[in-house]
Amino acid sequence: MRVQLLPSTFDSQGHATSEQRLTCFLIDECVAVDAGSIALALTAEQRERVRDIIVTHPHMDHIASLPIFIDDLFETLKSPVRIYATPEVIELLERDIFNWNVYPRFSELKNEFGPVMEYVPIPAGEEFRIAHLTVRAVSVNHIVPTVGLVVSDGKSIVAFSSDTAETDEFWNVINRAPHIDALLIEASFPDSMAKLAEVSARFGQAESQRPGHSRGTHKASLPSNGYR
Ligand SMILES: [Zn+2]
Repeated sequence: MRVQLLPSTFDSQGHATSEQRLTCFLIDECVAVDAGSIALALTAEQRERVRDIIVTHPHMDHIASLPIFIDDLFETLKSPVRIYATPEVIELLERDIFNWNVYPRFSELKNEFGPVMEYVPIPAGEEFRIAHLTVRAVSVNHIVPTVGLVVSDGKSIVAFSSDTAETDEFWNVINRAPHIDALLIEASFPDSMAKLAEVSARFGQAESQRPGHSRGTHKASLPSNGYR
């Protein structure tokens, strides 16, 4: 399985920098996990391939350019962009983003080929299929309904924590997996901002690096970049 973290900031030459303000992972060139930078950093070929997007929760750094992505592709989409999310997250997206005030309700709109966006509700705790992948969404501990993800292509298994503070179920699911090849944890704060991490239900650096969360897996934390 190939996992790419899409960049979200660029220098004056247009090269991606290591500052990671938005979250969007691309799996095997076709399935996105969250959509923070999806409209900013995909290549033209990737834009043609990505039609399945899992939204772990509706915070802006995870969905910032999702409406722009659909807007950009609106006239050319021959099949809808499918948004996989829990019913709670779908409700929040419809209420707060695709509400005709912030953005059009794309789930009600069609182009000449048909619908441009559709929701696929995902059950937390149960496995479901997206493209060639098997995915399990696990509820984690954040200030809005949020899921972490355990994704398998039949050979490799990769886990994404999304935004969470201390959480048991996610680690229990990981520890029951036959193997974990990569674990991607979001760390939003340096240790000096531990209090803010606590009130916003996110990991600081110390929590994300603490041993015992999981069993001998490779961990890769995103850079800290303040409140989100
Ligand atoms: Zn969040």
